[in-house]
Order: sequence, then structure tokens, then C-alpha cells
Amino acid sequence: MTPPPTPLLVWLDNDFRLADNPALIKAARHGATRLILCVTDTNLPRPRGAASRWWRDQSLLAFDESLQPLGQRLYVHSGDAVEGIVRLCRDQGVAAVFCNAAPDPARAAQQRLVQASLAVPLHTVEGNVLHAPDAVFKGDGTPFQVFTPFSKAADALAVSSPLPPPSALPPPPENLAFPDWEAFQPHWAGGMAQAWTPGEKGAQQRLEDFLNRHLTGYAVQRDYPHEAATSRLSPYLASGDISARTIYHAANALGSGKDRERFIAELYWREFSYHLLWHFPDLHRRNWRASFDRFVWQEDSQALQAWQRGKTGYPIVDAGMRELWHTGWMHNRVRMITASFLVKHLLLPWQAGEAWLWDTLVDADAASNPASWQWVAGSGADAAPYFRIFNPILQGQKFDPQGGYIRRWCPELAGIPLATLHLPTPAAIVDHTAARARALAAFEGIKGL
Ligand code: FAD
Repeated sequence: MTPPPTPLLVWLDNDFRLADNPALIKAARHGATRLILCVTDTNLPRPRGAASRWWRDQSLLAFDESLQPLGQRLYVHSGDAVEGIVRLCRDQGVAAVFCNAAPDPARAAQQRLVQASLAVPLHTVEGNVLHAPDAVFKGDGTPFQVFTPFSKAADALAVSSPLPPPSALPPPPENLAFPDWEAFQPHWAGGMAQAWTPGEKGAQQRLEDFLNRHLTGYAVQRDYPHEAATSRLSPYLASGDISARTIYHAANALGSGKDRERFIAELYWREFSYHLLWHFPDLHRRNWRASFDRFVWQEDSQALQAWQRGKTGYPIVDAGMRELWHTGWMHNRVRMITASFLVKHLLLPWQAGEAWLWDTLVDADAASNPASWQWVAGSGADAAPYFRIFNPILQGQKFDPQGGYIRRWCPELAGIPLATLHLPTPAAIVDHTAARARALAAFEGIKGL
């Protein structure tokens, strides 16, 4: 009697796509007659926030749907990744495991732990970033701390072409009973479900739409929150519904020009964030610049709550915080304004803002979120200088000149004439001039350290 064929296992995590999914594609090409696709509900030190959990659940459902015509399903194991994978391999007689290399240190450590606990090989393949976060180095072998030289060095390396989706997949073993497929119950639908179509198809549509309609003019328009001028691909990237390589090559195929260059530069900010996180795994807790450890932040739960709820009395800040609450996303320019307001006007710790966005952003990203917060606070690598304090009135006037963004997210201000729309309301929780002076005095103490 011929022995049953030995299956291969593809362990997925943040990569719910068929196209450019190297672990899936390589395992499928391996010639195995059986393939198990599995996701673990990982025990990472920092659990996903609520909004990104909602996105991930939608992505899982969409991915499972796209697998079914190929004769495959996704199996989800809730619990410890190491225990789950080891047991699955043992019970099913798995010959080898494939996964996409995690670009963040916590997940990479988990992959190493699984590798060490398995009796069969674990193949990790690069695929979630343009370059592995430790592949870009300064001439002296140390990591970069400044964005521009980092992006130049990274841009000099070739970016592998994305792999096409498989046209067929080997089926799972018959009677595969472990782990059970769990039906997901989306828990936070509402505005987010209206605003987004998570999953690989949604990502590809978004990319196509952006490249066809919005790439031209991107370099300038990207700063105006009322225009739908940016790609809004960040949650798809954060969940792995699309790969950075796919986006990079699709944009590059459209030739050169400042719009394309600017867009690619933004992809490199994401790479730079992973580079920083890789070399500083505590990025969401500790100041990159130790001089900031001496800074004494305020404790003010009322002010924090006003900021979280979009009730600071500064229209552009409140509009941004409400866009976030309603859709799980906020425009980049407004992220900078709202973050600066929390850290500089309210003198509240950047970690409190980072934690709020971690919970409420559908694109909450282990690298980009803390790196951006530290950039705004001034405590990060290549960060904004401490004396750069965004004026929320001028920022609103400049980047929302017709007030369309404010009127959309703060309907109670809709009737206010444009001439005064951007000014703080009588309920403003701080006075801009006084808050600016207080921040400059407070940050002066750690200047130059
Ligand atoms: P586009 O302008 O279309 O850019 C294309 C892609 O480039 C984005 O999808 C994103 O992957 C990347 N990118 C663009 N800008 C940045 C940037 N400044 N830093 C890193 N990558 C960038 N981005 C996240 O993906 N997750 C986060 O949790 C996150 N938190 C942030 C918190 C703060 C306080 C700030 C100021 C920025 C944060 N960003 C974060 C970066 C940026 O705001 C978003 O990536 C961007 O707004 C996503 O919109 P988009 O896809 O339309 O961007």
C-alpha cells in the first residue's frame, strides 16, 4: 500500500493574498500533493488594536473566499502559535513549513521560536517589505538613522519582481480536522464597513484606481485632506492584502516624474520605519533619543479624552480625530497636525497618542505608527526639531482652504463662514499662543542633548 502523501504547511500571518505571496507560491510549486494553509492567533507581546482586528477578520474572510475556487480553505488556530504549529505538523505528518519572513522583531522572534520547536524545516521567504529590514546598512555596517541616505541606499538595491498568483493549489489533506475553521463575527462595522473593502481584490482595485486617477498631481495634492489624492493603501499593506513590491513595480511601470518619485519615497518611509523598529524593538515604548527620557509630560485625562473624541475646539484637529473614529483612518497631514497638538499643545506623552491610534487605525502598523509618533514628538531618529510646533489654525487654512474637510467631519461648524472657520471655538481647551510658549519652554530643557 502506498503511504499517504506528506503535506506541506503554509503558515500565514499578515499576508492574506494570492499574488506575490512567496511562502504560498513556493510551497505550491514544491510539488506536494497536499497543502495546509493556516493562520495562528498569535500570542504577541502587543495584541492588535480593535480597528486592525476588524480589518484582519475581513481580510481572512475575503482570502478564504478567494481560495475556495482553487480547492483550498484557510484553517485558523486560536492560541499559542508555537504550540499550534507544532501540534498541527505532528498530527498531520507535515514535511516542511513555509512562511513569509516577518519584518518586525516580535514576529521574527516568534518565527524563530517555532523553527526551534519543530522537527521539520521552516522556510522563511522574503515578501512583506521591499528589502529585509537588516539588508540596508551604512558604509560602516551600522544602521541608518536618517531617512534620505537610507532611502538612497535602499533605492540602489533591486526590488524583486512580484510573483504572479497561483492558478491552482494542491488541496488540503482529506478529513483535516485541526484546527477548526472559525466563523468570524465582525464587531465594529458601521462607518468602517462603509469606508473600506478589505481583502486582495479591494487592494488591487484601490491600486489601479490610484495609479490611473490620482498619481498625476500626487506630489502636491497628497497634502490636502479633502481631496481623495493619496492611495489609501496603508490598511491593505498593514494586513498584507497586497505586497509593497506589487505597489512599487506597478508605480514604477508608469515611468518617471516627481509624482511617482514622491509616491515611492513614501513607500520608503514605511521601509525606514521597519529598519528603525528592527534595530530598536522597543520603538512604541522608549524614546529613540535618550535625552527625551528627562522630559516631564503632563498627566491630564480630560485633555486626552477631549483629543480622542475630537473635542479640543480646534477644528482641523477635531475633524481629523473624528475621521479616525468614524472610518479607522486619518489623512497623513492631519495625523501630523493632531499628533503635534497632543504632544506640543497638550504636552501629553506621545505614547498615549500612539496607543490610541494603535487601537483605532485600520492601518495600525507596528513600525510606522511608533516611528511617526517619535518623528512628530522630536524623540525619534531624523525627527522634527522640538521647536517645530504646528499652528493648527494656519495648517487648517493652508491645507483645507475651502473648509470642506472640517465641514464634513465637524457638521456643527458647517454654517460658520470660511473667514473664521479655522479659528478655535469658544470651547477650545487651550490657547494656541500660550500653549506654544509653554511647549517651547518645556522642550528647551532637553535641547541639544
Ligand atoms: P500614500 O500617500 O498613498 O502613501 C503610500 C504608502 O506609503 C502608504 O500606504 C504607506 O504604506 C506608506 N507611507 C506613506 N506615508 C508614510 C509615512 N509617513 N510613514 C510610513 N509610511 C508611509 N502609517 C501606517 O501605515 N500605519 C500607521 O499606524 C501609521 N501611523 C501614523 C501615525 C502618525 C502620528 C503619523 C504622522 C503618520 C502615521 N502613518 C502610519 C504614516 C502615514 O500617515 C500613512 O501611512 C498614510 O497616511 C497612509 O495613507 P495612504 O495609504 O493614502 O498613503
